[in-house]
Amino acid sequence: MTVSLDIAAKNTNAPAVVVAELPKLIAEKPNLVGLSRDEMIPALIEAGVPERQAKMRVQQIWYWIYVRGVSEFSDMTNLSKALRGDLAERFSLDRPEIIEEQISVDGTRKWLFRFPPRGAGAPVDIETVYIPEEGRGTLCVSSQVGCTLTCTFCHTGTQRLVRNLTPEEIVMQLLVARERLGDFPDKETPPGTYVPSEGRLVTNVVMMGMGEPLYNFENVKQALLIVSDGEGLALSKRRITLSTSGHVPNIQRTGDEIGVSLAISLHAVRDDLRDELVPINKKWNLEALLDACRNYPGASNSRRITFEYVMLKGINDSLEDAVKLVKLLKGIPAKLNLIPFNPWPNSPYECSDWEQIETFAEIVNRAGYASPIRTPRGRDIFAACGQLKSESERMKKADREALETAQSVNG
Ligand code: SAH
Ligand code: SF4
Repeated sequence: MTVSLDIAAKNTNAPAVVVAELPKLIAEKPNLVGLSRDEMIPALIEAGVPERQAKMRVQQIWYWIYVRGVSEFSDMTNLSKALRGDLAERFSLDRPEIIEEQISVDGTRKWLFRFPPRGAGAPVDIETVYIPEEGRGTLCVSSQVGCTLTCTFCHTGTQRLVRNLTPEEIVMQLLVARERLGDFPDKETPPGTYVPSEGRLVTNVVMMGMGEPLYNFENVKQALLIVSDGEGLALSKRRITLSTSGHVPNIQRTGDEIGVSLAISLHAVRDDLRDELVPINKKWNLEALLDACRNYPGASNSRRITFEYVMLKGINDSLEDAVKLVKLLKGIPAKLNLIPFNPWPNSPYECSDWEQIETFAEIVNRAGYASPIRTPRGRDIFAACGQLKSESERMKKADREALETAQSVNG
């Protein structure tokens, strides 16, 4: 089946839309993508692999999935034909459907992936964004469909939580993006060879797509440990950044158990304003948040915590705010990322004036903090920060309410 999305008909300045061939949408068999090595061993034994061979087979399969990016067991040429057949009967490596692939005038790409239902649920649609820059390429990965939090400036926050993504769905965003970008080594690479990271198109991963990753901690952890596995996708933990709106207990766990770089969505320097903009602040306030940052395992002057600050005209962009910000960050190995507000339909804010952003940045810079102003990317395809919002069907009302209560900022 072919999906045709004729965006150009609605908008004459529309960016390129690539129409994708859709594979069938079935998930009858468990997918091997997203399993840890420890989970894969018993799965293979159950499929008939002799116990003494299981570890070696995992090593081989891991190479095919994550180094070579294959999506068919028949391509795993150093496994016997019989084993390939057994694996294909029991497991899948199926990719999600690519519902839409849009390419911005600035080269940014946005995909809408559709994953099959989990259990009795409905399929979910997930957005992933690729941002090419001089010398690097960043993939912005989603951790949830929707979000339980309701930050007032964020489009995702207007979509209630549909569900947490599984490790498979998180890792798959990187596999399919690399596949679409032609970012896997060619077929000549011999089995068992680990490919160096130089020359890759996706050099960095940021957990800054839809959702709050620290409200889906276990799945995000498993996915990022797979993404950083040195004999697979092999992305350095320094090149993976997890962004949180401020789930304090899981910040410490992120440092201890995942070890990736940290970004904090700060956005306000006073509790009363932050309570309004980033409601998780009512549960963990600025003091608790900044304490967690001070103690973040692995943070140092050579590995700084990024503080994101969205510039909202007349709301959080005064020069007093800039001075207070510098005071708050004292003692934390920090860098600042000023994000011009990206509007979305009926959004209640305006972006600060450019001059104001520059003066704000100057105050912070003078205090010794690098504070680049993030250039909005992919605005024409609605791929910029805070603009993602898929239209997935919601999870069953009762299940959603249970999750929302568990993640309630007032609880
Ligand atoms: N939930 C996580 C990660 C996803 S949001 C978090 O909040 O950190 C990624 C970043 O985009 C966050 O810093 C978020 O505050 C910012 N953002 C959200 N909406 C935005 C908008 N409309 N314009 C600019 N940045 C926005
Ligand atoms: Fe959720 Fe982050 Fe958006 Fe807040 S900014 S609503 S935490 S995705």
